Parts: sequence; C-alpha cells; structure tokens
Amino acid sequence: MPLTLERSELLRTHNLIGGQWRDAAAGRQFAVTDPATAAVAAQVPDSDAADARSAVDAAHAAFPSWRATAPRARAQLLRRWHGLILAHAQDLARLISREQGKPLAEARGEVAYAASYVEWFAEEAAHIHGDVIPSPSPRRRMTAEHEPVGIVAAITPWNFPAAMIARKIAPALAAGCTVVAKPAEDTPLTSLALARLAEEAGVPAGVLNVVVASRERAAAVVAVWLADERVRKVTFTGSTPVGRHLAREAAATFKRVSLELGGNAPFIVFDDADLDAAVDGLMAAKFRNAGQTCVSPNRVFVHDAVHDAFVERLAARVQALHVGPATDAASQIGPLINARAVDKIEHHVRDALARGATLRVGGARLHADSGAHYFAPTVLVGVDATMACACEETFGPVVAITRFHTEAGVLAAANATPFGLAAYFYSRDVARCWRVADALEAGMVGINAGAISSEAAPFGGVKASGYGREGSRRGLDDYLQIKFRCQDA
Ligand code: ADP
Repeated sequence: MPLTLERSELLRTHNLIGGQWRDAAAGRQFAVTDPATAAVAAQVPDSDAADARSAVDAAHAAFPSWRATAPRARAQLLRRWHGLILAHAQDLARLISREQGKPLAEARGEVAYAASYVEWFAEEAAHIHGDVIPSPSPRRRMTAEHEPVGIVAAITPWNFPAAMIARKIAPALAAGCTVVAKPAEDTPLTSLALARLAEEAGVPAGVLNVVVASRERAAAVVAVWLADERVRKVTFTGSTPVGRHLAREAAATFKRVSLELGGNAPFIVFDDADLDAAVDGLMAAKFRNAGQTCVSPNRVFVHDAVHDAFVERLAARVQALHVGPATDAASQIGPLINARAVDKIEHHVRDALARGATLRVGGARLHADSGAHYFAPTVLVGVDATMACACEETFGPVVAITRFHTEAGVLAAANATPFGLAAYFYSRDVARCWRVADALEAGMVGINAGAISSEAAPFGGVKASGYGREGSRRGLDDYLQIKFRCQDA
C-alpha cells in the first residue's frame, strides 16, 4: 500500500544540514522498509564522516546566535513546533506505523507523547533560573548561572521514532544548545518529518541538523561527533553495549553523556494484589509497541498463592490480542522491527522451553512466509533465572512468569540484574508499598501502575541502564552547565 500523506512534503528523504536538505556527500543511499511487508518505504541518504562533519560545522556556526536568543523566543519556537506536530499528527502517525510497524492508533498516541515533551520544554525554556549566593562580604556579589553546554549529539533508537528524538531535541533547544542528530537506521523518516516541522516553526538554519546513515555507517558518523571537541554532549537511547562504547569514546574529550540503555524490568504481583488491576497493568506495560519498549516488564514474578489465578486471567487476555499490520484498524500488536528482533525472541522462547519452562500461549512466528516479522503474543510459566529470557531484554511480546514465595526472596531476585531502568509491583498493603519501592534498584517504580511514562516525570535508569534523566523539571539539567560569577566592587 503506498504511503499517502496529507502533506506529501513531510516525507523527507534528505539530510537536514545547515538549513539545507541534502543528499549524502558520497551520493549513497539505503532503503527504509515497512516491517509489515518488507516493502521499501523510501530511499534515504547513507551518510558518512563528511556529512557528520558538515553537520557539526553547521551546528557550530548556529550556536552563538541561538544561545543568545531570548529564552522566551526559544520557548515560542518550541511552542510553534508543538502546534505543528499536533496539527500533523495523522501524517506523523502514518510515518511511524510505516517504518516502525506499530498500529496507527498507538502511533497517534506516540505523536501526542512526543509533542508533550516539546510543550513541556517550551514551558521550561523561559524558567531556567540561577542562584544568587549569600556573599561573605558586602563588597562581593556571587551568582551561579546556567549556560547551554554547546553542541549536542543525539543518537536515537527505532522503537519510538518520534518520542525518543523529541525528548532529546526539545530540552537541548530550550537550553540554547544546537543539535546534530542521527536517528536509527530503521526509522529515519519520522525524525526527518519532525525536523521539517521544526524548520517550519522557525528554528533557524543549523540549530537542528539530522544526518541519516545505514547500520554499516552509523558508527562512522557518530565517531566524528565523538572525536570533535566542539560537540560538548552526547545523549543516547539504545543498547547497553553501544552506550558503553559511546561513554568510553566521549571520555577522551570530556563530553557530558546521558545514556538511556536497556532494562530488565521486574513486575511483581504480591498475594495481596488486586489481580484484575495487575493483569491490566501488565497488559499495558508489556504489550505496548509489541513489547519493544525499554521499560517493558521482562520478568514477571507472581506469588504462589495467586499464581494460577493470575496466569489464567492473563492467558485469556493474551490469547485475545489481535496481531496484524498497522493498516488494519483491529491490530493491537504489529510486526517486530526486523528479522534480528524475531530471531532473538524465538531464541528466548526455545531456550526457556529447553530449560524447563512451559508454554501457555503463543510461542511461534506468525505469517513468516510473507516476509513480515510477526511473533505471536506468548506466555511462558516456570521461568527461572538461568533462562535467556530472564537475563536479557527480550524486547518482544513474551511474558515470562516465575513463581515466588517470600517478599525478601522476590526482592533479591528482582534486583539480581545489572540493569535498573523500570520496576513494577502490585500490592494493597501500604507498608509493603513503601518497603518494596524503597528496596527496588530502579530509576522508575510503578506501584499498582503499569503505564508510568510522562513528560512531567524524570525518565531514566540506574546501574547498567545508564544515567541522566529525560523529562520533568530535571530534564534540562543535562543540557546546562553552571557558571559561577564572583564580582568585587
Ligand atoms: P538496537 O540494537 O535496538 O538497534 P542500538 O543500540 O544498536 O540498538 O542502536 C541505537 C542507536 O545507536 C541507533 O541509532 C544506531 O544506529 C546507533 N548505533 C549502533 N551502533 C553504533 C555504534 N557502534 N556507534 C554509534 N552509534 C551506533
């Protein structure tokens, strides 16, 4: 099915560098495909080091006047961008669905979520206060003021093509930074459309630059940004190995780094939980974006006393999920992003079954002959900590359930992972809610809540899930540096 947009110019197939839409300098291109059909959706530039350098040159040239732009004026631009994103929500949702595969209704939800960060940081832009420090002498004045850190390199994943880039670009622009961005190779079209709307909102040339590259050339593009002294910050959402690489390389030039990496979220159902609420929470948290969400519950622990009842109710709900392409309005679960993703999920299911888990629902690829990447929503019980699905992020529609007996035991198990992004639990015991939330090693805890992300909340992790926070009043901190001024009369 051809991609039809209300405004066809939102389908951009060039890099945006210094206010110009350009081919890659070497003229190379690669294909973006629809994961539901494997059909080519568009050809985009396969950029290399030369394009990456041009983008930094443009961001560098634009920085002095952007940082000097009044915060209120930056806020107004962001507000206009927010309005344009909402006005073109349907086109953006179509682009997201086409390149990433999530059902259209869910894609519209992502657009609203992405826009909420732009609105939030539009509001924050004009409220970046410093401190007046009590002086030791009447002849001395001391202040601490915020400055933008400089050029920000933003590297984003494919699972939320609009939201991930919006929540990096919006705070950077609000703070007065300029940006060089590289969207994921699977999903560059949404980022380019957002950049087009930013341009239309009046964001000046060079303030936002987007460079697209294939998986093969991604590292070469980012390497230029990592090595360049002028780039002062790297913000990344993606896998832990790539995050570790970026942090190491950024150290050579002492760049600031924010990393939102993988998770291995526990979801604990205590014996005093409201089971229907827990099932609802798990369905919302697990099956959003077909499970391709870094805050998705990866390990579900259910107390022995309620295990069978919980599994029964959950299995019925999972069985009823409708799997299909984004173009089908009935679809609740779309295709996975690519063949690599399906291979991993299949490996996790096979490994769990080989090690003694039991399959309750699903467990296999769907429509494999079509070239699309579907996997049936799956429930596994009898999962233990030795299985790949409990140690690694499955990133797919698989619920892996482990039975537990004691609070102390389940807390030890929940924390027995290098990761610490999100954690969830359901309980009606108030004292337990305090205790368990305190004990969980995670940047975000959902207590009787499965959908916890919000632009007003600090999103981020601890341990191998990275550092830095996106959203909330703290979301600007990563893009600001402090200057202490000391003036004697
Ligand atoms: P995933 O495995 O989910 O695709 P990645 O961490 O590999 O997650 O990808 C997230 C982002 O990091 C993408 O934009 C990708 O192009 C980029 N990326 C992947 N490998 C590298 C690398 N070696 N150096 C810099 N960026 C990379």
